[in-house]
Amino acid sequence: MNALAYHGPGRRAWEDVPDSTIKEPSDAIVRIESSTICGTDLHILKGDVPEVTPGTILGHEALGTVVEIGGAVTTLEPGDRVLVSCITSCGRAGSARRAAMDCAPAAEAGSSAI
Ligand SMILES: [Zn+2]
Repeated sequence: MNALAYHGPGRRAWEDVPDSTIKEPSDAIVRIESSTICGTDLHILKGDVPEVTPGTILGHEALGTVVEIGGAVTTLEPGDRVLVSCITSCGRAGSARRAAMDCAPAAEAGSSAI
């Protein structure tokens, strides 16, 4: 797949990278149809987020279609159209059941095509 990769402050490049694969039973792979760059990406590009290492794929907010799910995924099916939010609920923790969206980072950073 084609991805925008971070390569240090002020350096980025479009690259061909391997397609995503299911790594954990709770994973889902989404074919991205639309994505955006948000303020967090701009801070990363400036070098303000040292936790983000060179080679990280940028873009973590998107619209797309589920193409594959892990064995533990019960709320999605291939073909479902989804919004990938930068803040994603795990759907299981107490705060998730109360509709709080910050209980767990379910979307892996750098996985624009999760
Ligand atoms: Zn964001």
